Amino acid sequence: MQLLRDSNFLPIAIAVVLFSFVFADQSVASAKASGIWYHVRQGDTVWDIARKYKVSHNSILKANRIQSEKRIHIGKKLFIPGAFPEQQYGTWYKVKHGDTLSRISVNHGVPISNLVWQNRLKSADHLQENQKIFIPNLHSSGFAPPMRIKLVLTSNYGYRRHPVLKRRMFHHGIDFRARKRTRVYASKSGKIVRSGWRSGYGNYVLIKHAEGFETLYGHLYIIRVKNRQYVKKGQVIALSGNTGRSTGPHLHFEIRKNGKSINPIHYLNLR
Ligand SMILES: [Zn+2]
Repeated sequence: MQLLRDSNFLPIAIAVVLFSFVFADQSVASAKASGIWYHVRQGDTVWDIARKYKVSHNSILKANRIQSEKRIHIGKKLFIPGAFPEQQYGTWYKVKHGDTLSRISVNHGVPISNLVWQNRLKSADHLQENQKIFIPNLHSSGFAPPMRIKLVLTSNYGYRRHPVLKRRMFHHGIDFRARKRTRVYASKSGKIVRSGWRSGYGNYVLIKHAEGFETLYGHLYIIRVKNRQYVKKGQVIALSGNTGRSTGPHLHFEIRKNGKSINPIHYLNLR
């Protein structure tokens, strides 16, 4: 109480609290958006490029400060936030006469559900000849879905208008619909390097995996692991919730590579 009466103390205390709050939040939210440069080719549209690299159309427009499609011309260099060189994601396959999704699935060793998801197909049996199907490369990933419910994506990776802060921000993960108290599983084996509470993420867990990968799980209700603990892929680490900056119960899921966020959709094995 003596200290509080000192008129100099309060502003300093507030500044210290604010500083540590901001600083602490930065330490976990420090993932930077990665990306690549792309040379526009004949016939390219921003929509094509966005589809190719699985990023949002808007994130390309925003990153390159372009207002409309009309500003794209052959040879122009565009920055594609969140993208990696094409071959890291997989390959494109041109549908032949008589092809079925199940045959493509078997031939390439990729589950049908994943092909449907990745290509935003309405159903598995409406393939057209010459249609291009993206075949994801799942060999290097091995990230399991963080929940064992039917996964419904409610927010994509990339630029978006933040639902709480109401300004344009880069969304470093993807959001899955999840009722409060849904079990959350480690997507891959690893070590808990951070867990606890941060203003944006609410209760969160950060797991460090091999080869510079990390996964982050946010807005949790209850955390069931401790820092420095090792967890196995598929082990329950938390129950989902609605903590932190969140407008409703969901799971925020990130994958990072060497400290930079990457689009989890390219790495999740949605078997
Ligand atoms: Zn999110």
